[in-house]
Amino acid sequence: MSDINLHTQICFIGLGSNLNEPISQVLTALDELASHPDISLIARSPLYRSAPVGPAGQPDYINAAAKVETLLTPLDLLEELQAIEQKHQRIREQHWGPRTLDLDLLLYGNITLDTEKLTIPHPYLTERNFVLRPLADLDEELSLPDGRKIIQCLADCPMGSLVQLSL
Ligand code: ADP
Ligand code: MG
Repeated sequence: MSDINLHTQICFIGLGSNLNEPISQVLTALDELASHPDISLIARSPLYRSAPVGPAGQPDYINAAAKVETLLTPLDLLEELQAIEQKHQRIREQHWGPRTLDLDLLLYGNITLDTEKLTIPHPYLTERNFVLRPLADLDEELSLPDGRKIIQCLADCPMGSLVQLSL
């Protein structure tokens, strides 16, 4: 029993939605992470409202981040996240287009990975205040695998229109 947790990893997941009641999409996804048999939800950030990146004319996004612990491998965790996206009837039509739920694997322990299906840290992490802000809320000491501090990345990132919700 003593070594059962030897290989768990702390991971950070980014959540985003801008369709079909995005606040409840994100809150439901957090519940689904919390109740997943292979994922332990440790904490979640506040929710934020942000202006869309990508095609114009989309509704605002609701964003948040979750800190989880898991024994799943990076690819297995991605598959579980995609299964939750599917439950929210996400249809991939347009790159960066509107979506009911987007779950991104932002950080997986201290690893870096660059494969066709999965890049860790998430490729746009350092460019997006709506990802960096909730990550810093979860852990203000958090660093990228290359040693850069999340709070420094946040300071270097244009803040745009990010509004914290009281949720
Ligand atoms: P985006 O999140 O960039 O708007 P999608 O959610 O449609 O785009 O993801 C497209 C693909 O990105 C997924 O099929 C997945 O294989 C790949 N991907 C690569 N790295 C990651 C990551 N860290 N987290 C989530 N998806 C990733
Ligand atoms: Mg995604």
